[in-house]
Amino acid sequence: VLSAPSGAGKLSLLTRLRAADDRVTTATSVTTRAPRPGEVDGDHYHFVDMRRFNELLAADEFVEWAEVHGNRYGTLRSELERCLTAGKDVILELDVQGMRHLLRQGQDIVSIFLMPPSLEELESRLRKRGANDENDIRVRLQNAADEMAARGEYDYTIINDELDRAADELKSILDNERRRLQDS
Ligand code: 5GP
Repeated sequence: VLSAPSGAGKLSLLTRLRAADDRVTTATSVTTRAPRPGEVDGDHYHFVDMRRFNELLAADEFVEWAEVHGNRYGTLRSELERCLTAGKDVILELDVQGMRHLLRQGQDIVSIFLMPPSLEELESRLRKRGANDENDIRVRLQNAADEMAARGEYDYTIINDELDRAADELKSILDNERRRLQDS
């Protein structure tokens, strides 16, 4: 499980990792959030309306779900199984609630929290992205501070001060965890 405040650079990090490691894959979540410019349905997220989300919820299709920044996000059981059946190591991009939820279920997860170098840097990245309005930026910064306070609950913390270095660190965590699994 990889958690990161919005704007911490998770997407760039995962793009690097996927290019460097073909054993990992990321599961595509379902969300009620509107697509940002450039986001592709079925790739970044499955974009659905609230009615469809609630149908999936009622049908017990989610391993976990959460409300984040006023929108709902959920991990489909079918998507997780598809990735695992393909023999891949699956990265779930979840908020802190999602990580806690899986832990409570007793899932054997490795959890990693990605930190931005600072809240100032985070704010500047959110503004540069230009996809969020002022109110949204304020909500995301407040949530970022709350989420960062929970980083001690994670197995690992990576500080995304320099993308190459952070990507190397993520890769070595994965390699170590794979070795640990093999040895156990
Ligand atoms: P964004 O709107 O910036 O893409 O994502 C907002 C937050 O929702 C991020 O913290 C992201 O990790 C989280 N998120 C995305 N998909 C899921 C999901 O399926 N479950 C949970 N619990 N959080 C998710």
